[in-house]
Amino acid sequence: ELRVIEPHEHGIVRDQISAAALQTLEGLHDAGYRACLVGGAVRDLLLGVVPKDFDVATDAEPEAVVGVFGRKARLIGRRFRIAHVRFGREIVEVSTFRADPGASEPDADTRELDDAGRVLRDNVFGSIAEDARRRDFAINALYYDIADDCVYDYVGGMDDVAAGRLRLIGDAGVRYREDPVRMIRAVRIAAKLDLTIDEPARPPHALVPLLADVPAARMFEEILKLLMNPAGPKVFRMLREYDLLTPLFDQTIAVLDSPTGAASEALIEQAIANTAARIDAGKPVTPAFIFAALLWPAVRERAATLEREGTPPAPALASAQSQVVGRQVQLVAIPKRFSIPMREIWQLQPRFHRRRGKQASRLIAHPRFRAAYDFLLLRAQTGEVDTELAEWWTQAQDDPSTPTPGSGAGST
Ligand code: ATP
Ligand code: MG
Repeated sequence: ELRVIEPHEHGIVRDQISAAALQTLEGLHDAGYRACLVGGAVRDLLLGVVPKDFDVATDAEPEAVVGVFGRKARLIGRRFRIAHVRFGREIVEVSTFRADPGASEPDADTRELDDAGRVLRDNVFGSIAEDARRRDFAINALYYDIADDCVYDYVGGMDDVAAGRLRLIGDAGVRYREDPVRMIRAVRIAAKLDLTIDEPARPPHALVPLLADVPAARMFEEILKLLMNPAGPKVFRMLREYDLLTPLFDQTIAVLDSPTGAASEALIEQAIANTAARIDAGKPVTPAFIFAALLWPAVRERAATLEREGTPPAPALASAQSQVVGRQVQLVAIPKRFSIPMREIWQLQPRFHRRRGKQASRLIAHPRFRAAYDFLLLRAQTGEVDTELAEWWTQAQDDPSTPTPGSGAGST
């Protein structure tokens, strides 16, 4: 079932491979190892997309990779050991061909599953054919071999490239239970490359709750890849379609799915669309803004409830923030460097309603003003506050008659 695709058939040329990846491939090859480009880079090149990064797979064990590249290489161990090889500013991830231990030795203690059937540890080296089979989707399991420039296809990935299809390798129930994150990878890859998700690979409703058990730190990284993304708006719609956000943002989804949820959903969609547009324009983006939008509906509802129960507005907002964030970080671990500015964005919102001279100029001078103002615009666009208020602040920023702190007597 191995199919070898010649260079003139697949069309990938070495010029399309980054300098660092090429040097890594050639270094391993010259040392007598098999060295292939694999995964997203091969997939993207075949589909005419510029790859984000280049991953290398080899039959050299991680220590041998260090032997080849010396101080340019560093072993890192997350779920399994891989080598990072650095050329200049570029880092190439080099992983050793690994078997899916479950396939050959179901009882071996080299494979550890938890109660839900997820892989906890797999670190068994194997053949390239085995390495192909443990990958998630067939189009992600194509190997560009530097020895002959051919693409090696063990799982029918080339046919899927031609058909624009995203197909799981193996049984969906098994593969999604092993690693529920594959369900959101399916959505991300399909959205990015405009692929049709093969019917059996569509995230099954019954398995979606398994996402709640994925470690919160890994989930944060995955959420960034999903939403800080030029295809973010499409990703978000697909995540909603397959209900994949419910186990990850339960507090938000409860609001979105309520009778008054449409405006909140529009706010989140707009934040994701703004981020995508900024990425396309080469402007800086911060996860703080996306997370501020994602959690705002829950924070706002919680604060409103507390106010109805008699808590004054400011403490109600503060306490709602703490409650919502406290629960959220158990599911998706938002690092402090993002959650602090996120909370500042929220905290500044009530201050936009106070427009009298000095209060306004103090707010404009606040280090988080810009992000908070952008957030106010979102709220205005989606009908949560008057557009007149947002317009006032748009004017006030450029208006030289708005005194800025330090310019007037007595300001601090
Ligand atoms: P991107 O363009 O976002 O980088 P990618 O497919 O390259 O997409 P990576 O996370 O860089 O995604 O993973 C590289 C490769 O590793 C994948 O193409 C796939 O072959 C394999 N892989 C990644 N995550 C999984 C997973 N959860 N289960 C099985 N294989 C995976
Ligand atoms: Mg990649």
